[in-house]
Amino acid sequence: MNSLNNSLEFSKDLISFIDASPVSYFAVKNAIEILKENGYEELKENSRWDLSDYGKYFINRDDTALIAINLREDLEKGFDIIGSHTESPTFKLKSKPEINDTGYLKLNVEVYGGMIYSTWLDRTLSLAGKVVYEDKGNLIAKLVKIDRDLLTIPNAAIHMNRAVNKDFVINPQDNLYPILRTIGDDFNKDGYIQRLLADELGIDPLAIIDYDLSLYDRQKGSLMADDTYQVGRIDNLGSVHASLKAFVNTFSSRSNVLILNDNEEIGSRTRTGANSPFLGDFLKRLFLACGKDMEEYYMAIENSFLISADGAHAIHPNFKSFSDPTNIVKLNGGLAIKIAANGAYTTSIESKARILKLARNLGINLQSFHNRNDKTGGSTIGPITQSRLGIRSIDIGEPILAMHSIRELGGVKDHFDAYKLYKKFYEED
Ligand code: ZN
Repeated sequence: MNSLNNSLEFSKDLISFIDASPVSYFAVKNAIEILKENGYEELKENSRWDLSDYGKYFINRDDTALIAINLREDLEKGFDIIGSHTESPTFKLKSKPEINDTGYLKLNVEVYGGMIYSTWLDRTLSLAGKVVYEDKGNLIAKLVKIDRDLLTIPNAAIHMNRAVNKDFVINPQDNLYPILRTIGDDFNKDGYIQRLLADELGIDPLAIIDYDLSLYDRQKGSLMADDTYQVGRIDNLGSVHASLKAFVNTFSSRSNVLILNDNEEIGSRTRTGANSPFLGDFLKRLFLACGKDMEEYYMAIENSFLISADGAHAIHPNFKSFSDPTNIVKLNGGLAIKIAANGAYTTSIESKARILKLARNLGINLQSFHNRNDKTGGSTIGPITQSRLGIRSIDIGEPILAMHSIRELGGVKDHFDAYKLYKKFYEED
């Protein structure tokens, strides 16, 4: 059955996408494959761009962020843009990670993003990321995913930690070293990760210059009772998947843009993050390459619209008091429009009206999400992108449970609604 006509198949397709994307490098690699299958060509940021009307293009920055466009004439009419992020909380290996400790080989790791630590305990984990090595004087970068059960972060027994269900606080430096194996006193720990990577890539360990490796959960995603699904990284690969599928399956007379940023979970202040000139420079270069001027660029920005697509919080039946008393967001109750008086979300009365009208025409339900006044809540790429470009924007997301756990829970219907809404948004002239 075609996954674009059936909500269950569409969620199965999402689960496969997430299972194949353990870290942002793979999310971008898989997105690029889908773009190429649909006729998109890569533009290099360090070359001049030769563009044509009705061209389909993308740029890839550092293998963790990308922007794609189906270019139309009359650029000053503006862009319909959907933005999301490619990464999720995880642990990254520190330099010199190998530690020989009381008969175990364990690894020193650094926390990436705001995670729920306890959910990473007693899971079967492995490593994925990028390796740089030297080959005949050239530096080669390769993505690597160690596709086997490799390590785990065991809990302490309750008999030794009676406070574990009371007030025990996990110390992220002391208590969360992943363990690889048992070893003898004479074991040579130094360079173990290089040797592991060299084996994986079939190269000499001494050729390895550096690596950027993160932990990932080995358990595959699952559909639950055919109406919810459980897998890691729904925040925000759910939005990446829905917007990407909507993008490649839409024809419109207006230029549509898809942006996948990196580093949202750590504040976006990197060259691949939303707080960089990545999107603004890309849009400006389109005008320069098409022989247009900056006046037309500023006209286009005023005519443009951004959907910042990112996970939202559904009400949790075991923690109802964490949610706003009147804006109850239900799982499978429809996408949530996120609204915040403090500007943590970009939704305005104008941007909301456009999306409400779209949803009404489609016959799908939308919900409103507000934080409680005594909770800080998260933010998204929306306010950052908006304050850099001055673009009109809305924050929308699929409601989920257990955000930033190693496994999150999403709704099958909500994910399909996201695809339908994003497609309709891109189709509008
Ligand atoms: Zn997110």
